[in-house]
Amino acid sequence: MNEDASIIRGKMAFLDEVCQERRAKLVEQNRERHIATYAPLSGMYMQEGDKKLLSFCSNDYLGLSQHPEVLALFRKEHKRIGSGASRLVSGNGVAYDELEAQLAQIKNTEAACVFGSGYLANIGTISSLMGKDDLIISDRLVHACILDGIKLAGSTHKRFKHNDVESLELLLAKHRKDYRYCLIVTETIFSMDGDIAPLNAIIACAKAYDAWTMTDDAHGFGVLKNDQQADIQMGTLSKAVGAYGGYVCATQEVIDFIKNTARSLVFSTALPPMVLEASCCALAVMNKQPELTKDVIAKSNAFCEVLGVAPTGTPIVPFIVGADKAAVELQHKLYRLGYLVKAIRPPTVPENTARLRITFSALHEVGDVLRLADDIKKLDVHI
Ligand SMILES: *Cc1c(COP(=O)(O)O)cnc(C)c1O
Repeated sequence: MNEDASIIRGKMAFLDEVCQERRAKLVEQNRERHIATYAPLSGMYMQEGDKKLLSFCSNDYLGLSQHPEVLALFRKEHKRIGSGASRLVSGNGVAYDELEAQLAQIKNTEAACVFGSGYLANIGTISSLMGKDDLIISDRLVHACILDGIKLAGSTHKRFKHNDVESLELLLAKHRKDYRYCLIVTETIFSMDGDIAPLNAIIACAKAYDAWTMTDDAHGFGVLKNDQQADIQMGTLSKAVGAYGGYVCATQEVIDFIKNTARSLVFSTALPPMVLEASCCALAVMNKQPELTKDVIAKSNAFCEVLGVAPTGTPIVPFIVGADKAAVELQHKLYRLGYLVKAIRPPTVPENTARLRITFSALHEVGDVLRLADDIKKLDVHI
């Protein structure tokens, strides 16, 4: 069979050649991605080769990834690194219980389930709860791992206009009756736009049409107040919490079912205990120091004020420039000035909306934030 295929093609399909051709296309479209290597310095500084860069592209909004209390954990003696097996086999150390109890308390739900990452939490949860007779309606701009979860679920997928409850309601009115169950998914703070979903209105609309709601709080956790009304609250421990892992919070019934059926939980090894301990510690610091949140929002606002753009009220400020090439050029200009700011291109964002995505952290110095704003002003970018 395979031999026939290569005879019809007239040549062998060499894997290297196929990859090279495909990557050349990405280069042509200004879509090639490059994974650079940085050594972290203190604060938001990074070293790349002999160049020192000030990062404005980290999701470590509160600086908890390098908080002294959290770091101290890693200097302790540990009995082991790896957890050995899936949580359902032998990997479920006590740190899981503690972390899940903390998360459920913060989110004000009965229970929580910690996954290996936010990506795994989304694909596992959505495909565990929803099936092929069901309808999933999401905001048009939700994260790639929600889309992957929907594909795995095999449900019908419809998308409403970004943050537009009328558009959601039209879809519900037209399609809800044709399906068994319906789930509505949105982010709380949108990762690439930094804007906030109209959650109360979305939830009211869902209730009116007998639909369930799920929020992805990857960028809201530690930054925005609790999104406590959604039926399923998903998030990550790798952004404002500064550690690693993902979670969902919901009622005990929902969590028990997910723990039984989410394949990305059942068939994947548990997180290393020290990573779970780091999350526990970071959550405790987050609770004790609400001023970290105020601080990062104040920096984001100050930046927007200098540039004369509307504040997002979140640590994320997008500069939409449109063309991929223009966004990459801006990234390079800022790099030469010593800033690490990344161009975000499709398919991460919709076509013709390539942008710089600037993120702030409590670790930034106010002076550095204002300097970046001034330097961008001098570049004379029109947005
Ligand atoms: C980062 C992110 C995720 C994935 O979380 P990880 O823990 O990094 O796998 C999910 N959803 C959104 C909106 C994100 O920004």
